[in-house]
Amino acid sequence: MTAEGMPLQRGHELMIEKSRPGRIGADLPRSDVPSVSDLPQHLLRDDLPLPELSQLEAVRHFTRLSQLNYAIDTTFFPLGSCTMKYNPRVHEEIARLAGFADLHPLTDDEDAQGAIRVLYDLQDYLAALAGLDAVSLTPAAGAQGELTGILVTRAYHESRGEGETRKRIVIPDSAHGTNPATAAMAGYTVTEVPSDADGDVDVAALAGLLGPDVAAFMLTLPNTLGIFESGILEIARLVHECGALLYLDGANMNALVGRVAPGSLGFDIMHFNLHKTFSTPHGGGGPGAGPVAVRADLAQFLPGPLANRAEGGNYYLIEPENSIGALSAFYGNFGVALRAYAYIRTLGAEGLHAISENAVINANYLRARLKDAYEVPYNRITMHEALITGRRQKRFGVKTLDIAKRLLDYGYYAPTVYFPLVVEEAMLIEPTESESKEAIDAFCDAMLAIAREAETDPELVRSAPHSTPVRRLDEATAARKPILHW
Ligand SMILES: *Cc1c(COP(=O)(O)O)cnc(C)c1O
Repeated sequence: MTAEGMPLQRGHELMIEKSRPGRIGADLPRSDVPSVSDLPQHLLRDDLPLPELSQLEAVRHFTRLSQLNYAIDTTFFPLGSCTMKYNPRVHEEIARLAGFADLHPLTDDEDAQGAIRVLYDLQDYLAALAGLDAVSLTPAAGAQGELTGILVTRAYHESRGEGETRKRIVIPDSAHGTNPATAAMAGYTVTEVPSDADGDVDVAALAGLLGPDVAAFMLTLPNTLGIFESGILEIARLVHECGALLYLDGANMNALVGRVAPGSLGFDIMHFNLHKTFSTPHGGGGPGAGPVAVRADLAQFLPGPLANRAEGGNYYLIEPENSIGALSAFYGNFGVALRAYAYIRTLGAEGLHAISENAVINANYLRARLKDAYEVPYNRITMHEALITGRRQKRFGVKTLDIAKRLLDYGYYAPTVYFPLVVEEAMLIEPTESESKEAIDAFCDAMLAIAREAETDPELVRSAPHSTPVRRLDEATAARKPILHW
């Protein structure tokens, strides 16, 4: 339905609207069990209004719907902070291998040696990339990895008799919303530290906020402005000086992977987003994995099971001694772990090194091409994503949301908009290492054309999109009062 409540254009009707009585798409065999006639009357359904369509109609319906989607397989996907990189097809083959896909999670360790070895090796690779000592693969998303890390932090302080005194977690104002949500869920109060004029954490302000009541400082690196914190070593020193732990939100590891091991910068705990950095299809919400890496003395608190190896060479699963408890069923999203394992093995150390290099070069190229048409809030070399704003266009009455909608007419998904919250009219664009120069140029050409339109024909941009199956929706109403049936 459109915003005005009119049915969609022909070809986009619902299956129930295409239905014609008696039309059949599947031929079911005659039932070979006796039908039951003595069920209580009130349990019987006299009409079941299922759509009646031929197979061809059903196939066309779903194929057409699938083509309405934007996907990394069809378009450049500029969504910042999400790392929408190419997901190699070989991963799908590997994840579907019967030996993995059909393995029952309760299989004895000795009959699941190959699968446990994959987990063991992946723990090992991630520990090396983190520069930390132990890894739990079980958290099912970045946000759950954060929760895991903060629960480990709480267990650590409790083990030292400081659980009652350390009640605060400090988080930069540029952080992803999951960071303060995580801290609150784990029972902490949140103190916000401002960013300075260059987009870095204001280190002097941070120093003033730290103290014996702080449990952790949660930092994203590079931060959500795409900036590598130039004060990171000083930040680590200050955080440790007050007895708190330094937590890394590792969602932006695509800028660092294979190049900087966060443990060497002073991070005590971090999570990875396997679905981002190590390529699992993750548009539409999942599945993902948010493994957590910690320094050696925190390993005892990790959620199990962890994969381990006996002297003799057999692999087995263990529960850490003082574990915070399970975060997911069995060993988490195994299929995502398999894809990450395959990705790391395929690329090797050199390949991983090249990822971060190309991701950073691509983002800086994109930023350089757009910086004269769009205002850039921090005029410095960026890491793996470029932050621009729609502030100049706003003067012509064109908002960032309008620019995002106009991009749909050019065949692109919209970038991340209005995030980070600290930057007015923000647009966060992450090309990733997957895109060619030609693809980035074509996207930049579209952005530059929209910037010109904003000046010469602002109404065209304000009323976009014009070429999509539905025009501009009332998104707040769609989210808050969705019409879910006809
Ligand atoms: C994506 C992201 C998260 C959350 O990760 P999910 O896997 O979506 O739960 C947290 N922080 C940052 C900076 C992110 O980009």
